[in-house]
Amino acid sequence: MSRGVPVLNLQAQYTGLREAIHAAAERVFARQEFILGEEVEALEEALAKWLKISHVIACASGTDALRLALMALDIGPGDEVITTPFSFFATASAIALSGARPVFADIEAASFNLNPAEMEARIGPRTRAIMPVHLYGRPASMGAIRAIAERHHLPVIEDAAQAIGATYGGQYAGTLGTLGCFSFYPTKNLGGAGDGGMVTTGDSALAARLRRLRAHGAIQPYIHAELGLNSRLDALQAAVLRAKLPHLQSWNADRRDKAAAYSELFLAAGLTGHVALPGEPADGVHAWHQYVIRLPRRDAARQFLAARGIQTQVYYPMPLHLQPALAYLGHQAGEFPESERASREVLALPLYPELPREHQLQVVQAISDFVRVA
Ligand SMILES: *Cc1c(COP(=O)(O)O)cnc(C)c1O
Repeated sequence: MSRGVPVLNLQAQYTGLREAIHAAAERVFARQEFILGEEVEALEEALAKWLKISHVIACASGTDALRLALMALDIGPGDEVITTPFSFFATASAIALSGARPVFADIEAASFNLNPAEMEARIGPRTRAIMPVHLYGRPASMGAIRAIAERHHLPVIEDAAQAIGATYGGQYAGTLGTLGCFSFYPTKNLGGAGDGGMVTTGDSALAARLRRLRAHGAIQPYIHAELGLNSRLDALQAAVLRAKLPHLQSWNADRRDKAAAYSELFLAAGLTGHVALPGEPADGVHAWHQYVIRLPRRDAARQFLAARGIQTQVYYPMPLHLQPALAYLGHQAGEFPESERASREVLALPLYPELPREHQLQVVQAISDFVRVA
């Protein structure tokens, strides 16, 4: 056991699942079917049932899920897709790689998610889709976003990479729009032993299109109806994910308990005047992928904690409109003030289902010492 307080401990989960995961891997090696096939189909079925959605199309990563979703809607050069500038890079790069232009709309300060009014103000004649992100696992304001999208006849592609298990109005995040995109990156709430992702949809025609797009656009072996990606999930990932899926509900419940414990500890320590705590929408349930606070002297706080052996993370230190790779969009600092402020103030604290209470006490104590002494 390492000393200090890690931001994440994947060993803790593996220890309890060792046998199930090894048995799953053994099954794949015994069958020698490594790409798509029965394991992947079984996973797709299990996930469709879990999420209460008719179609799940597994693919090679969350990034590819976003790319496939855009391809399935025929979005490309000349088109615009509205999204948030405060997300992981893949949200915007998927749009840019399609040839379309990412059009950013600022976030709501409290939720870190797309502000529906800002989003509506950017809808124009070239807008072809809306791509909200459920950042940190907190569902975006989907009621307003969907109403606006419907009024403008625009499809909604949800980036639910961080939000498996979150709900909004009683429905799972990633099943609220036209297409939902998820990631099985190892650190996500449901993580594989490598890269993986999926697209969800309730639309049979889009599902069929996505199945061929993930396999070079093939309609039968070696006959290609259109250009697609090589983005198939492999059977080893599917087998590992099948072993983990039955635990997802309880892992998310544990994350929720740890998040509530942090908030209680911050409250009890009288720190709410110094630190802004994450909340939950009235009509939604947070998946608590991350517990992210805001504080004004974030970088100093992070160093102070690191000196005590406490790891934290900053998701994300640079908003997307200021990324060097997207400089061609011509944005400047100051254009999306809430996203820019968030990128200066956010601090993700250690959070995972097995997080020891002792670590939570240490984290809150250290932040208390920082705001009072340092
Ligand atoms: C992880 C993530 C992705 C990309 O998923 P990969 O599986 O790493 O490709 C996209 N969007 C968001 C918000 C993410 O957190």
